[in-house]
Amino acid sequence: MGAIVAIVGRPNVGKSTFFNRLIRRREAIVDAVSGVTRDRHYGKSDWNGKEFSLIDTGGYVLGSDDIFEKEIDKQVELAIGEADAIIFMVDVESGVTGMDEDVAKLLRKVNKPVFLAVNKVDNAQRMADAVEFYALGLGEYYNLSSINGSGTGELLDALVEVLPDVKEEESELPRFAVVGRPNAGKSSFINALIGEDRYIVTDIAGTTRDSIDTRYNQFGFEFNLVDTAGIRRKSKVKEDLEFYSVMRSIRAIEHCDVCILMLDATRGFDGQVENIFWLAQRNNKGIVILVNKWDLVEKDTNSVKEYTAMIKEAISPFEDVPILFISVMTKQRIYKAIETAVDVYKNRSKKVVTRKLNDIMLPIIENTPPPAYKGKYVKIKFCTQLPTPYPQFAFFCNLPQYVRDPYKRFLENKLREHFDFTGVPITIFMRKK
Ligand code: GDP
Ligand code: GDP
Repeated sequence: MGAIVAIVGRPNVGKSTFFNRLIRRREAIVDAVSGVTRDRHYGKSDWNGKEFSLIDTGGYVLGSDDIFEKEIDKQVELAIGEADAIIFMVDVESGVTGMDEDVAKLLRKVNKPVFLAVNKVDNAQRMADAVEFYALGLGEYYNLSSINGSGTGELLDALVEVLPDVKEEESELPRFAVVGRPNAGKSSFINALIGEDRYIVTDIAGTTRDSIDTRYNQFGFEFNLVDTAGIRRKSKVKEDLEFYSVMRSIRAIEHCDVCILMLDATRGFDGQVENIFWLAQRNNKGIVILVNKWDLVEKDTNSVKEYTAMIKEAISPFEDVPILFISVMTKQRIYKAIETAVDVYKNRSKKVVTRKLNDIMLPIIENTPPPAYKGKYVKIKFCTQLPTPYPQFAFFCNLPQYVRDPYKRFLENKLREHFDFTGVPITIFMRKK
């Protein structure tokens, strides 16, 4: 799991400029590997060896150009609920505004670390001007120029200092998170599994979110359900807030091993569902896709096939993911869904013995070597699975930089053919031998 840092502030203070500066380098690498279009408002960053997720909350609020104060308040409240630390960005060019004061008022009440970042401090004169932000009552602030990068180091030093240590949580039990758009049927699903009463017992309003697991043990399955606090809060928060569901998904995905992605069959695998899918994929989580409310769909013999094909097109090239058609209402296949999630969990923690891996992969590579690149021939001599919590493979060769993405995908496909990694993202590294 990783810590979550949210950037809040009114429009045009420079949030996305700052966000891009922090994640660009990393994301460029990720994009090259996966070929996936990235979410422009959510990404991973790291500083001094500590990794964290960064969310530009402004990016998730629709119409952020003519945004209303109410929207900003909502944004800040959600960020407070879901993030481990908050960067509150203001703009030295415009000075303290009424909206800044409103946000500061909310943030002063929070018992999470808040970092006031005064942006656009591009020169010494502006450094003097920044002093006025003391008036916000948030204590020390950080001078920043997101455009030229100055001040970033000081801010990040202080930030990572307060973040919890990032490590994969150790638990013998699989950790599942049920995610998806509002109204997909997530809470009905969880209630069907756990029973309403049991669920309410764990609902202690206003407690911190440190323990977000609900242990489930029935019918031979045992696992932890991760972060469903958002569902419990349903009565208080208007659930049609897409932003809210994104924030909640991020939190839940960060903390789980397998993501149970649920969609409403009558609404389809739309852009929002796809975003959540790639969120899970980029976090190297296992994924099971559940097409719920199958009872509402008029079916013929090809329905499942056609629906499956449509989803696979959206999630290509990572198509090796289980897709189940269920109905929480009629309880159709809901236990099968959990069984599948357990299988994916096992695939994710699978370790292939090095010798067996080489016995299978080296002949394949010999038959179909990487194509020559700039007249150079790449020789892959050896491969091994890395001792990471999720599947990563290193292929050792003479010229790692000459192995292109299509060949890596070829290797990935061969791995999937010979070892069951269904539902699990695979990372392939080429290393210098
Ligand atoms: P957001 O709406 O908060 O995400 O703000 P943007 O990142 O889109 O930035 C708004 C405007 O401020 C853009 O024109 C940026 O180029 C500009 N800007 C961002 N950071 C700085 C900075 O450090 N210095 C100056 N002078 N301009 C900046
Ligand atoms: P959530 O927002 O994802 O937690 O969704 P809910 O569990 O609150 O479900 C939203 C609505 O869909 C409720 O009215 C449920 O009764 C309904 N629903 C859930 N699962 C099914 C299903 O399998 N079939 C049908 N027809 N309705 C369902």
